[in-house]
Amino acid sequence: MRYISTRGRAPALDFEEVVLTGMAADGGLYVPEQIPEFSPEALAAMAGQPYAEVAFRVMRPFVGDAIDDATFRRLIDATYASFKHDAVTPLKQLDSSHFLLELFHGPTLAFKDVALQLLGRLLDHFLARRGERGVIMGATSGDTGSAAIEGCRHCDNLDIFILHPHERVSAVQRRQMTTVPAANVHNIAIEGDFDDAQAMVKASFADQGFLQGRRLIAVNSINWARIMAQIVYYVYAALALGAPHRAVSFTVPSANFGNLFAGYMARRMGLPVRQFVIATNANDILHRTLSANDFSRRELKATLAPSMDIVVSSNFERLLFEAYDRDAAAVDALMSRFQHEPAALAEAPLAKLRALFASHSVDDDTIIAVIREAFGRTGELLDPHTATGYRAAERARTDTVTPMITLATAHPAKFEDAVVRAGFKGAPLPDALQDLLSRPERYDVLPAELAAVQQYVADHRR
Ligand SMILES: *Cc1c(COP(=O)(O)O)cnc(C)c1O
Repeated sequence: MRYISTRGRAPALDFEEVVLTGMAADGGLYVPEQIPEFSPEALAAMAGQPYAEVAFRVMRPFVGDAIDDATFRRLIDATYASFKHDAVTPLKQLDSSHFLLELFHGPTLAFKDVALQLLGRLLDHFLARRGERGVIMGATSGDTGSAAIEGCRHCDNLDIFILHPHERVSAVQRRQMTTVPAANVHNIAIEGDFDDAQAMVKASFADQGFLQGRRLIAVNSINWARIMAQIVYYVYAALALGAPHRAVSFTVPSANFGNLFAGYMARRMGLPVRQFVIATNANDILHRTLSANDFSRRELKATLAPSMDIVVSSNFERLLFEAYDRDAAAVDALMSRFQHEPAALAEAPLAKLRALFASHSVDDDTIIAVIREAFGRTGELLDPHTATGYRAAERARTDTVTPMITLATAHPAKFEDAVVRAGFKGAPLPDALQDLLSRPERYDVLPAELAAVQQYVADHRR
């Protein structure tokens, strides 16, 4: 399997290279040159299989000959053994045709574990085979850093450095990062804000001399392996509700669009999906683009669903590439206009998207109201991200006969703030994290200076 850039000016890569590379050299994103397809019979044969088996069959075509079958199975089995539910991503019924797909049974209680637990193992495998060491650097406002750390803590060939703004992260979220007792995990509290931390990570990718031969690797949501791993739960959930004999719809709390693009891939691979609903918070670029053809940046707003706080939705470019019938020159032109000024999609691709996707934006007051309302009607305590999905599903679904599956992207205990504001005492942490607040922490505080951070990375090498 080969991968090509959405902007058409970067070399095609194989699976191993694409996992190690991240963004394409031309600023585009890698997509598979050919999208594999399953016949209805092949899909039907996956129904009732364990999650890991479905994962193997769905992902196998994307890997090509980069990993042998036995090794790939071993990596998948180890990955999903780290989840606390036998179904890995269990489905719950909310009413006669609305279901919740719980994606938060991984080690950090959010959906990013599904992909990052696999990505860490893939990277470690490739690095070992090449005799290389890798460095992962990332910045977090607190909500997503732990998933990358948990994904890498067992990797022999990777050192991971996660920067968070000092004293600006909730205790639970900081402790999910700083209590991981692994020699290759390094938490750096930056005396600055999230933007300072992110700028230093970006600058480090631009000038990698300080790494002394280690390879810097991006594990952000544009990494193809993350998309690939997320396709699996769309297939798994749809099969449980009767696919391929019955179509289903999905609603997805969205930001960088990595989650939803995986669903789109599942449909292209043959899964019968009637509709996708894009849920956003007040950072609504996806909703504005779809509903008003307003593809433009707006200032970042801090919301109660912080993991969806974005200005640009990076993986949306992958969907544009498909909507423009893989015309890389057109995508390149659109993205360079978007870089500098408000842009708009051409009529035909927009019409194509509107035939399959609907969207809805949910503000903070509504998030609080929905958490209360959903609990009253279903007994489920939703996290604020999932709450945007619950509301969007109700408002934007085209019919109430097709089963609607709303993706639950985080456990409510992770975002207690919103839960408390909705009038609840709080949300208890699951058993595995009960003692989180008493575990010893380990992190270093550094000034918001690039040289200091790079020296720290250079000094910490296992
Ligand atoms: C990252 C995240 C999202 C957004 O997912 P994208 O793939 O960026 O669209 C939604 N909810 C939670 C809890 C997240 O962590």
